[in-house]
Amino acid sequence: MIAIYPGSFDPITLGHLDIIKRGSLLFEKVIVVVAANPNKRPLFSADKRIEQIQAAVSPLFNVEIDSFDGLTVTYARMKQAQVLLRGLRVLSDFEKELQMAHTNKTLADDLETVFLATSTEYGFLSSSLVKEIAQYGGSIDHLVPQHVARDIYRCYAKT
Ligand code: ADP
Repeated sequence: MIAIYPGSFDPITLGHLDIIKRGSLLFEKVIVVVAANPNKRPLFSADKRIEQIQAAVSPLFNVEIDSFDGLTVTYARMKQAQVLLRGLRVLSDFEKELQMAHTNKTLADDLETVFLATSTEYGFLSSSLVKEIAQYGGSIDHLVPQHVARDIYRCYAKT
């Protein structure tokens, strides 16, 4: 079974990485799909985010990375993926994720959304929190892979 794991990944955190690792044990292949979506004004370009994810998942032989600007169901169909993988942290995720899963079901009945519960140590972790901490000079070394932390520090050192 092929799973796609779509998201902004702006940037990838240890919470995302945990979902990718656990997903790679469950599915034949996991494709991490970076949402290009330039309207969201991301901190990193889609190419940079792909590069960051690539470096983080390199030991995982069955994980691929791609970017896509369009409906997730369109991408899933293109790749013949049967599963849409998402992570769940808190109750507020659940509302948003359930709405998205139901919507996607109306668009592609054969695509199943599968949720993995966050590992307890990453329940609080989000890309926006990481950016906020770094922006105000805090340490994010325990929240993202080392090379990503370097990129973020460099980004905010410029501003
Ligand atoms: P999006 O903008 O599509 O929500 P994100 O990059 O924020 O993209 O998240 C992608 C997916 O990863 C979502 O399903 C989100 O709930 C999940 N996720 C993000 N952070 C964590 C975490 N710390 N633990 C588990 N899942 C997470």
